[in-house]
Amino acid sequence: MRLDPFETWTDAERRRAQWQRFSAKLPELRQKNPFYRARLSDRGGGLGDLPFTTKAELSEDQAAHPPFGTNLTYPIERYVRLHQTSGTTGRPLRILDDAESWAWWRDCWQPVYRAAGVTSRDRIFFAFSFGPFVGFWSAFAGAERLGALCLSGGAMTTTERVASILATEATVVMCTPTYALRLAEAAREEGIDLARSALRVSIHAGEPGASIPATRDRIEKELGVEAFDHTGATEVGAYGFSCSARDGVHINESEFIAEVLDARTGEARDEGDGELVLTNLGRWGTPAIRYRTGDRVTAVRGACSCGRTLVKLAGGIAGRVDDMVTVRGVNVFPSAIEAIIRRFDEVGEYRVELATVREMDELHCTVEAPADVAERVAAAIHREVGIRCKVETVAPGTLPRFEMKAKRFHKTNV
Ligand SMILES: [Zn+2]
Repeated sequence: MRLDPFETWTDAERRRAQWQRFSAKLPELRQKNPFYRARLSDRGGGLGDLPFTTKAELSEDQAAHPPFGTNLTYPIERYVRLHQTSGTTGRPLRILDDAESWAWWRDCWQPVYRAAGVTSRDRIFFAFSFGPFVGFWSAFAGAERLGALCLSGGAMTTTERVASILATEATVVMCTPTYALRLAEAAREEGIDLARSALRVSIHAGEPGASIPATRDRIEKELGVEAFDHTGATEVGAYGFSCSARDGVHINESEFIAEVLDARTGEARDEGDGELVLTNLGRWGTPAIRYRTGDRVTAVRGACSCGRTLVKLAGGIAGRVDDMVTVRGVNVFPSAIEAIIRRFDEVGEYRVELATVREMDELHCTVEAPADVAERVAAAIHREVGIRCKVETVAPGTLPRFEMKAKRFHKTNV
């Protein structure tokens, strides 16, 4: 596979190119963007001297200046699209794009498709309702630009989507990892084996599943595909993609500057453990400068076996920084539990509850599986994560199904 020049930049080339792009726009942002004007004023030096941006700040700004807030570089009539965040953490944030920014979104998808081996010959099915969430809209626009045949799965039931994938001989499916498994399940109920369809690649976003080996293996087996991970955020852009090395997600450093914030020291570096901080370099109508994504990552540098020198988030995104729970002194992300449960072929859907009982945290898993699986799942969680956990089995079809991001992890106080 031919790589783009930016994909093999040296550190010096990367820093120079990023700073050129960013610093060229700084004067305009200082002058015209009310949200960033004050934040960027009178600050010299490099990116590291600028303040972070948080979701709470964008949210408060929007509440104070409805309906779109003040992170707008251009007059309102120049904007052409509205998207909003899912609202899983607080009220949904409305974000506008102008035509140029939207073209940038489409461009950001090209390395994602290329890394997955998707070309203009592919037929891409978008198993998505086409609501206001930006991810799939931008993927659709990016696929059209690639020259692929774009197939909308909006306003369809899961069964109808399965039928459409078969009828159109789709070769690529885009959906959350959870929904990929739901599609396979719905197909089985109709006596259809999706592994025998024309599907050959799947690209997933919204959850870390495609970077969790057990989840990815299951998707690949049930759909007969090679599964790739993609990471993006409404506030920032479509920034990451997994490669042939299959051990994490590269960041498109041509269009984004990545930093990792160590919460204890408050120091941001260009690799290591901590919260992912991103600056975008092409969405100037609604920029994100040193945006704290809330995602916990381990960023590693050095050449990847795929040939890219782009920074890699090892193992994808571990989880939201605030998703981490501490059970009797052991820190654990929901993705670590998923990585174990998904290895059990007998388990369909599952649910995890963290209950605080008399000031003690207890983990309780409910799995759709035969009764004899409970003990083995509990033993695996104890062995690998170091937490004792109650596991209960229920009949298949008992737990809720999800189309977008799954809500499998619940916290309760007893
Ligand atoms: Zn790679």
